[in-house]
Amino acid sequence: MEPKDFISKRGASLKPSAIREIFKYSGDPSFISFAGGYPDPDVFPVEELKEVSVEALDKYAKKALQYSATEGVPELRQYLVKFMEEEENVKGLGEENIIITTASQQSLFLVGLVLIDPGDVVMVEAPTYLGALSAFDPFEPDYVSVPTDDDGIIPEKLEEMVIDLKKKGKKVKFLYVIPTFQNPAGYTLSLERRKRIVEIAEEQDFLIVEDDPYSYLVYEGERPPCVKSFDNSDHVIYLSTFSKTFVPGFRLGWIVAHKDIIRRIAISKQAADLCTGAYMQYITYLYMQKGHFMKHIEAMRDIYKVKHAAMLEALDKYMSDIPGVYWSKPKGGFFVWLVLPETVDCDQLFDKAIEHKVVYVRGSAFFADGQGKNTARLNFSQPKVEDIDKGIKILADVIKETMGV
Ligand code: PMP
Repeated sequence: MEPKDFISKRGASLKPSAIREIFKYSGDPSFISFAGGYPDPDVFPVEELKEVSVEALDKYAKKALQYSATEGVPELRQYLVKFMEEEENVKGLGEENIIITTASQQSLFLVGLVLIDPGDVVMVEAPTYLGALSAFDPFEPDYVSVPTDDDGIIPEKLEEMVIDLKKKGKKVKFLYVIPTFQNPAGYTLSLERRKRIVEIAEEQDFLIVEDDPYSYLVYEGERPPCVKSFDNSDHVIYLSTFSKTFVPGFRLGWIVAHKDIIRRIAISKQAADLCTGAYMQYITYLYMQKGHFMKHIEAMRDIYKVKHAAMLEALDKYMSDIPGVYWSKPKGGFFVWLVLPETVDCDQLFDKAIEHKVVYVRGSAFFADGQGKNTARLNFSQPKVEDIDKGIKILADVIKETMGV
């Protein structure tokens, strides 16, 4: 039997994730890893979870251990409707506007399945979350990268590009955007731009898929309102996840959208996994209802704030004298984006960093069109504070050596 003779064209076309491929280094304790995107496991609320998971069985065992509705358990859906109104200022929602998913990676896949026909244009940030590209790839979109600056996507460019694409007879289906503490670049879309991209979506009639895993992890200033809160015409599909604010191991997320889109997503989800585990949903519901969730976010912010400061301080200390090197100054989230002079041989740099037991993700993995050879994503949520300083010093020395300065 020759397995490859049986693999479909689509199955064979999927590429392994550039991040997951370097897990072998991140998992090795002799390495300092800036590669992952995981929460710090020390922040997991184990003690509260022990209590709440027993209570969920006491109260809901028969429902929690059973198959559940594809859309999610009603208690959590209703709670999230209220949460979206109170915390995100998204008004007028009903249960029919929300579906619980097996976290945002599944949400992205289902959104791709329901919206993308081969050749449809999907506008993405440059750079963008590479897991979204993997989720959309099987549906064969044409990606168009929209230029960004320190305030995120540039609306004037977006508008120009959409008008131009439409003139060429292309169907622009949606803009995929991570507006807050973007993965990988760390920047945040300004308030004016949030309003403006919704106006452009309404005027030009395309959708916005807003992916929002990080906005609660804010370390400086206020959490910005979600793009969805400016949407009065159902042009925005909002995705969120409990992976960064609670625990990724539960694999829980949700989508907010027009009820007909939610319905199509629910039908696709039936085909994918019937439903997301009800027990995890009941635990999460109780955890939120008891007020643990927002308190936990506060506690996490205190921990990540220290790491965020350590990363920005280390970059300042070791890299500010390297000519042509600059980095994003995120106010929250998990990542800093490092830009090196175009002349740096980035493959050589990556190999040298590995030799010195430091690993990061090459920035080119986050571009739909192969740009970004001279960029890198640095994660600060996972490494220990002392390792951040040590690792950035090593990386700075490796960069200097590669540049010959
Ligand atoms: N979107 C973005 C922007 C992410 O960074 C991630 C996780 N790295 C996801 C979606 C997927 O997360 P999950 O499936 O754990 O919710």
